Amino acid sequence: MPGQRKIIHIDMDAFYASVEQRDHVEYRGKPLVVGGMPEGRGGVVAAASYEARKFGIRSAMPSRKALELCPDVLFVKPRFTVYKEVSNSIRAIFKRYTDLIEPLSLDEAYLDVTNDKQHIGSAIDIARQIRASIKQELNLTASAGVSINKFVAKIASDMNKPDGLTFIAPADVVGFMEKLPVEKYYGVGRVTADKIKKLNLFTGTDLKRLTEDELVHLFGKSGRFYYKIVRGIDERPVVPDRETKSVAAEDTYSCRTTIRQETQLSTRQYVLRPSDTAWSGDSPQQPHTWHQA
Ligand SMILES: [Mg+2]
Repeated sequence: MPGQRKIIHIDMDAFYASVEQRDHVEYRGKPLVVGGMPEGRGGVVAAASYEARKFGIRSAMPSRKALELCPDVLFVKPRFTVYKEVSNSIRAIFKRYTDLIEPLSLDEAYLDVTNDKQHIGSAIDIARQIRASIKQELNLTASAGVSINKFVAKIASDMNKPDGLTFIAPADVVGFMEKLPVEKYYGVGRVTADKIKKLNLFTGTDLKRLTEDELVHLFGKSGRFYYKIVRGIDERPVVPDRETKSVAAEDTYSCRTTIRQETQLSTRQYVLRPSDTAWSGDSPQQPHTWHQA
């Protein structure tokens, strides 16, 4: 189809925690938190290993709370210099395929591979190669979402985490958005989601019944975006070389500041931080998925 884009969203799995487990044998297989110490005032979880997540530990949670949930959890101070180096290496891998790279944070980026440098042509193959290179060269895992726009690619990358690749085919995008639960649409949190559900709006199909004006009335400016995205239309370009605020801020601010800024950044993208809960029951029109063993 002419004019149709090929967008990949890559998201490293439990990035900071995975780097620490990679670099320290003694951390592997253990519940681990990267972030502020629980003794300190206002210490928060910047990243939790998958072992820690089993206890309900989540990013942005107070470290004290994490300790309550899992008394054995290991706390590790972030090494942002190292994460930034790894992030640069990941970026170098992306660069083999495209210069249209838009980082959202140290561990997340959109890639436009509509015209890839190596003329591979298949966005799925490119995503596969990128994931393989990250594994081989950096000994880390990444999840990828592949589709025709940023919104769908980002939702997709979260669907088979960790170490997954999810493709939402062009023909499936409309059906995918119709089945998408409303809470996946918002950057505005649970309170608003609950408010919307009280209006008997649960899925994209429900949102689609509203006019653009009604959506604007409910969501403000974002309503216009929702009107389009619920129809599978997201024309936001992949903007290369935008220095993300969180990347720039990490050296100078505390973890807490960094997390807040990343959250704001995600809100601006109209997408929640990847939720840690598994993709819930009413799964979308059987997307094509690949799991690495
Ligand atoms: Mg991540």
